[in-house]
Amino acid sequence: MIEEFIDFGSWQSIALFTAINFGVIFFRYVMVSLIFHFVFKVILKNRYESRRISDKLRKPKQSQKEILWSAITSFIFTLSFVGMVWLYLNGKTAIYTNVSEYGWWYLPISLLIAMLIHEAYYYFLHRWMHRPKIFKLFHYVHHDSVVTSPWTSFSFHPIESILQALIIPFIILFLPMHFGVIFFMLILMTVTATINHLHIEIYPKGFAKNWFGKWWIGSSHHSLHHSKYRFNYGLYFTFMDSVFKTESPEYLPLFEEKTTSKTTA
Ligand SMILES: [Zn+2]
Ligand SMILES: [Zn+2]
Repeated sequence: MIEEFIDFGSWQSIALFTAINFGVIFFRYVMVSLIFHFVFKVILKNRYESRRISDKLRKPKQSQKEILWSAITSFIFTLSFVGMVWLYLNGKTAIYTNVSEYGWWYLPISLLIAMLIHEAYYYFLHRWMHRPKIFKLFHYVHHDSVVTSPWTSFSFHPIESILQALIIPFIILFLPMHFGVIFFMLILMTVTATINHLHIEIYPKGFAKNWFGKWWIGSSHHSLHHSKYRFNYGLYFTFMDSVFKTESPEYLPLFEEKTTSKTTA
C-alpha cells in the first residue's frame, strides 16, 4: 500500500521524499506550537494566567534560537522517518498494515509497549546526558531554555536529536506495529513534548493523584527538570523517576499550587 506512493528508485526521488517529509515534520512542530501558544497564552490567557509555572521572563531571542534548533531537529527526525520507510520497503521491520492480523485490541497494547520502551531508553539516555562532560558537549542546548515554551519542544543539539531519533526505528524492527499506530505515536510525541514545555499547568486539579495522572508527566513535572536539573528525567510517564528516586519532592506541591486558584477553580 505505502509502496504505491513512494519511489526509492533514484537519489532524486529519495531527496524529494525527504524534502516533503521535512516540510511535514517542521510544519507539524510549528502548527502544534502555535495552537498551544494561542489557546493558552492568548485566547484563554486570563483563565490560565495563575497556572503559569513561574513569573520569570524568557531570555531575549530565546524563541528564535529554539525554532532554529528545532528546524535542525526536524531534519534529523525526517532522516529517521525516511530510514524507517526504507527499512519497511526492504522487509526489515515488523510493521503490518492489516488490523485483523493482530486484532483491534492489540493496537493500544502495541502503542503502550512502544511508549514503555521509549520511556526506559529516554530516561537512561537523559540521565547520561546530565553527566557534566556530556551536558557541556550537547545537552546544554535544551537547558538553555530555563523558562520553557512550546518552541522548546524540539530544541536540541543535533547529537541529542540523533540519539533520540534512533529508538523508534529500533522498536519497529521487532515490535509488530500497525503503521497507523506509528503515525499516532509520532503525533503524540509532538503534542506531549509541547504540553510539557508549555510552562502552564493545563491538567485539572487532582490529576496528579488520580489513577492515570499519577503516571503521566505534564508541564509542572517537566518544568522542574528545567529549573532544578537534578530531578524529573522522564518523558511520558513518572514511573522511572519514582523507581529510581529522581522525582522532585516539589512536584506534587507545585501541581497542587498551580491547580488551586480562584481564577481556575
Ligand atoms: Zn535534561
Ligand atoms: Zn525539556
